[in-house]
Amino acid sequence: MLIDVIAGARPNFIKIAPIIEAIENQRKAGTDISYRLVHTGQHYDKKMSGDFFTQINIPAPNVNLEVGSGTQAEQTGKIMLGYEALLMKEPCDLCIVVGDVTSTMACSIAAKKTNNIKVAHVEGGIRSGDWTMPEEINRLVTDSITDYFFTTSQVANNNLIKSGVDQSKIFFVGNTMIDTLYKQMPHFIQPAFWDNYQLHDKAYIIMTLHRPANVDDAGKLKELVQEIINSSNNLPVIFPVHPRTAKILTTTGIIAPNLHLIEPLSYLEFNYMVKHAKAVITDSGGITEEATVMGIPCMTLRDTTERPETCTLGTNELLGTDPRNIAPAFRKLFVGDWKRGEIPPLWDGHTAERIVKNIVQIFGLK
Ligand code: UDP
Repeated sequence: MLIDVIAGARPNFIKIAPIIEAIENQRKAGTDISYRLVHTGQHYDKKMSGDFFTQINIPAPNVNLEVGSGTQAEQTGKIMLGYEALLMKEPCDLCIVVGDVTSTMACSIAAKKTNNIKVAHVEGGIRSGDWTMPEEINRLVTDSITDYFFTTSQVANNNLIKSGVDQSKIFFVGNTMIDTLYKQMPHFIQPAFWDNYQLHDKAYIIMTLHRPANVDDAGKLKELVQEIINSSNNLPVIFPVHPRTAKILTTTGIIAPNLHLIEPLSYLEFNYMVKHAKAVITDSGGITEEATVMGIPCMTLRDTTERPETCTLGTNELLGTDPRNIAPAFRKLFVGDWKRGEIPPLWDGHTAERIVKNIVQIFGLK
């Protein structure tokens, strides 16, 4: 059985690494199973793509569709055309898509419409309810044609059931992003700037911002960053800037002695920084999960989350996008009132093994 594993953007690479490893282990144990890694090229620069392959030992892609940058529709169209052409020449038996990026949606559509290839969605069923987020549209479209849902939470299971998905298609397995986190934790790397910026354990803030609602308007972005600087008790604020944000941030001209704008970090460096931080401030989805597992206070500059367990169980709190909510959250942090949190069920480092075991069973592989 040939499984296509699709990856296109930064969070995807972290999620597919353990799936590929689990497929390989199953193949080595004699099962008739193999994979083809399809990189769509949605993220293509070294800092957002190549470095992850070398650093967390993801094998080189078997195919690269090299779609490059573009609008939502341009990228969707290019990925569908490229993946359809591949499937027409060399079909697969199952297409695994992960997460919620454009590649997730585009490849699931191409697979279903090319000989009705079965689609498995890893991280299926999560919903923010916010239809202005491109990711939410990707989730809704992908899940409407998915055959097998591998889910990260009971909330995701309930969302799927509410939308009419049959229970037999839902497999609650946990979180593959956390498989990678546990595996790589012993290998985290202290970045070279640690000494230059005179950083100390639990005495700096690490932040990321890349959602359109926060970064597409220069005035809004400047206000948010300024408020974070004002609230941070002069602790260093380390801000690895996503390429999307970089374009706009340079126009704001924002500077402060304790604000360090840097390029996106490699995975092992970034998570070192999270693990040793006083707090994380972000609008990412995946980072709220990683912060939860590492027990680091996490402030999310969004009104909604598709990962509610990071708030109900974990260390995450939604501050919304109003800059006025930032100072009170920092005050709570500095008086030591931040919740401690616990790790959500099945986020135990063995999710990918469970996914592959289920696939072996579903397809009756020998
Ligand atoms: N990440 C990284 N370097 C950075 C920022 C993030 O390696 O400078 C990793 C982070 O640890 C997580 C993933 O990128 O595994 C999250 O990606 P992103 O925030 O782009 O996507 P989202 O989770 O919001 O979809």
